[in-house]
Amino acid sequence: MSASNSDRHPLVEGPRDPEHDPAASYALEPDYVSRLTARILATSGETKEVRSPIDGAPLAHIPQSTDADVEEAFRRARVAQEKWADVPPREREQLLLRLHDLVLDRQDEILDLIVLESGKARKHAFDEPLHIALTARYYGRTTAKHLSSERRPGVIPGLTRVDVNHVPKGVVGVISPWNYPFTMALCDGLAALAAGNAVVAKPDAQTMLTALLAAELLEEAGFPKDLWTVVAGPGSKVGTSIIQRADYICFTGSTATGKLIGKQCAERVIGCSLELGGKNAMLVLDDADIERAAEGATRAVFSNAGQLCVSIERMYVADAVYDRFVERFVARTQAMTLGATLAWENDMGSLISQDQLDTAVAHVDDAVAKGAKVLTGGKARPDLGPFFFEPTILEGVEEPMTCFRDETFGPVVSLYRVRDDEEAIARANEGDYGLNASIYSRDTGRARRIAARIKSGTVNINEAFAATFASLDAPMGGFRQSGMGRRQGAEGLLRYTETQSVGTQRLLRFGPMLGMSDESYAKVMTASLRVMKALGRA
Ligand code: NAD
Repeated sequence: MSASNSDRHPLVEGPRDPEHDPAASYALEPDYVSRLTARILATSGETKEVRSPIDGAPLAHIPQSTDADVEEAFRRARVAQEKWADVPPREREQLLLRLHDLVLDRQDEILDLIVLESGKARKHAFDEPLHIALTARYYGRTTAKHLSSERRPGVIPGLTRVDVNHVPKGVVGVISPWNYPFTMALCDGLAALAAGNAVVAKPDAQTMLTALLAAELLEEAGFPKDLWTVVAGPGSKVGTSIIQRADYICFTGSTATGKLIGKQCAERVIGCSLELGGKNAMLVLDDADIERAAEGATRAVFSNAGQLCVSIERMYVADAVYDRFVERFVARTQAMTLGATLAWENDMGSLISQDQLDTAVAHVDDAVAKGAKVLTGGKARPDLGPFFFEPTILEGVEEPMTCFRDETFGPVVSLYRVRDDEEAIARANEGDYGLNASIYSRDTGRARRIAARIKSGTVNINEAFAATFASLDAPMGGFRQSGMGRRQGAEGLLRYTETQSVGTQRLLRFGPMLGMSDESYAKVMTASLRVMKALGRA
């Protein structure tokens, strides 16, 4: 490993003595692990071992929660939420702004944990504290505005007053994946807290430590105890137990699991937001700045080794620039530095698990066996770490190949040559997903007109995904099988509220008055409806 001792956070020991533990490059201090895992509400006495994808060596033993623990988490959360709902939104904003500072101050520790648990490159890990700081600042400045009651026009001008209130749902269950362990554990939950809810969180089993550090930071920022409880265990067990008790579910993960969760929420008639998978397309138009597009493409495809919901897996490149673009994209990809260390030096890190590696290998092998060409990459790299896979660019991918339609969720992209914009739009809109898309063009007006015809929740022009993801006022989510509901913006906060309309009626009532017959009342109302329309009233 190339990181020197001085590069590493003091909480990380290592490299270990190769004579005693040849596999391990890094280890966490046992006291530190105990401090974090003590936050899990778990009484089963069982633990699950977590290993680091960097070297396959053990990182921690995670206590596992029972159904009774989830019950207790909800009991505590309900008590905490009742008090929290009375805290004025302006005070909640102050805690979010404090969290913003804490996340920036403690970023080294956050980055170390993310890299150790996920194996990603440190520069990709940095996107996480960055996104959480942006989220905390955004809701730290807008919560009171988003939650303020609004006056709406009443049915009888001057006599019917209508106020619309936003009432917290209660206790929100947040079920999150492993790919962005800090961001995904925290970003959706912050909006839930801001809206006056409590959270019971079930992060993915592989990345619990990062999620527990997030919980610790919330408490340090001043959020009341029990407002955010973490439980641990298999999704099918602990996740189901949460869904049975929650007032709303925020789920991020695969489309297959999202469908199961959606069904269970429907049975309980509770709302849910589902942030699911994608097979995201990039369009490189004939007037694109090729160097800029090639640079953007490497980030679009290989950030977090492609294990990113908004990463690009398909590229439609205009015939006129195809050869030049491919040459630059392949050259940039081949120049990338691969490695699994805590230092900043790597351009791409490891995949997180054997499952992810198996999928990448299977997709590439299947495509090659059916005639696709590997322009660069294509192989596992056990010499770098147990789950490494090279950044891979494919050409000639067609319909029967698995990676034509299915999400790889790895560092693999397919390139397609297209005649014109119409073909690019039609191809980008193929398939079942619609999460993110990217368009490179020097004519941003043309690109925006094309964006309006792409069936995806976000479209980034001359950027891969960050322009929308980091613009916190912009809602983010999927069309079609990529999900329902939106995170970020007012939408991301208001999903955690019930909308309540309060009507106050003065003088006139909705029925005959002063001895008027029902028939006369109907005539007066009919005439008044005609007048209202003529006056242009909505
Ligand atoms: P996954 O669906 O297997 O797991 C996600 C979470 O759900 C984990 O915490 C898991 O324990 C839990 N879970 C699993 N089965 C469950 C069940 N039956 N009931 C309740 N909870 C259950 O997904 P994954 O493999 O961890 O994540 C990768 C997928 O997530 C990819 O498809 C990716 O595109 C998607 N993703 C989407 C976004 C987005 O914002 N749209 C972000 C990140 C990841």
